[in-house]
Amino acid sequence: MESNNHYNAIVIGGGPAGLTAGIYLSRARIRTLILSEGTIGGQMILTHEIANYPGVESVSGYQLSMIMRNQAKKFGCDIKANIQLDTLKLDGEVKEVILSDGARFTADAIILSPGGRSRTLGAPGEETLKGKGISYCATCDGDFFTDKEIMVVGGGNSALEEAVSLTKYASKVTVVHQFDHFQAFEYAIEEARSNPKISFMMETTITAFHGNEKLEGVEITDFKNGYKQNYPIDGVFIFIGYVANTEFLEGKVELNIWKEILVDTDMQTNIKGVFAAGDSIAKRYRQVTTAVADGTIAALAASKYIHELHKTIQHA
Ligand SMILES: Cc1cc2nc3c(=O)[nH]c(=O)nc-3n(C[C@H](O)[C@H](O)[C@H](O)COP(=O)(O)OP(=O)(O)OC[C@H]3O[C@@H](n4cnc5c(N)ncnc54)[C@H](O)[C@@H]3O)c2cc1C
Repeated sequence: MESNNHYNAIVIGGGPAGLTAGIYLSRARIRTLILSEGTIGGQMILTHEIANYPGVESVSGYQLSMIMRNQAKKFGCDIKANIQLDTLKLDGEVKEVILSDGARFTADAIILSPGGRSRTLGAPGEETLKGKGISYCATCDGDFFTDKEIMVVGGGNSALEEAVSLTKYASKVTVVHQFDHFQAFEYAIEEARSNPKISFMMETTITAFHGNEKLEGVEITDFKNGYKQNYPIDGVFIFIGYVANTEFLEGKVELNIWKEILVDTDMQTNIKGVFAAGDSIAKRYRQVTTAVADGTIAALAASKYIHELHKTIQHA
């Protein structure tokens, strides 16, 4: 008889991708455990308003997280938040997870959905003003800055393309970039340069964010002369790169050069019985809707895998 600590599926990461996988798996009567570092909800928790999730006009990230969590629990999914992984064995038919408190779980299949994080500037005030005027997602938050003055930090394709897209909302967009040249395609540079709403502060960076309840201004340091100057501003969008939370997966599943998990169209990794979903996989667009879609596919593919595995065991 299988032990109580054996699950058909273990999902690692309790953001929208992992919670969706939990909902689909549990609803299919597959014994499932979600293990997540931090609070359930993932990056959604950092979002004070989600206005682009279909079917829900406006919802706080916290509320949407709780709705998804309760839905998964209603179908019988076990959830453990604020855990820390110690050991993860993905090879072989039985997968094994050991937590830092010594708890040990095994599973037939694993879904990896550890998400990711935007690279931050690390300037004072950034942590506390995240979501209160500082954003890392133009698609998510652009609309909140209609007719306001904003800054965009970065000089790559994302920064310049998003600066252009933000001119649909903002009255003025200032691109703040640390070098005297951009690291973007020529077309992106030309489009940004020819937009009358965009201006540039080259060889500068933001060295502090000011404000209490919301962002009120920034300190800009000029690398050419070292001068620091304060500017009032309504919003700052930071596009200086994205990091997948896959440090713990190095050497265990195939990652690309950006350390994103490589999957096929069924969200299957290079390891049998190990699937991945959400922001941590190699893909271009990272949203709640895309995470939810990946989680659905991973759960359906994992269900099929578990079903086949049990058929093989019965016939053996
Ligand atoms: C400020 C902000 C605003 C946003 N606004 C919107 C919006 O309005 N609309 C929209 O569609 N999208 C928005 N997004 C993007 C959206 O939140 C993400 O695309 C989505 O949450 C990704 O889901 P995920 O499940 O893949 O990963 P995540 O949400 O990142 O969740 C991953 C979870 O896994 C956990 N984890 C990480 N490593 C481990 C580990 N080793 N072991 C166990 N658990 C681990 C993390 O703690 C986290 O709880 C926003 C993002 C941010 C940062």
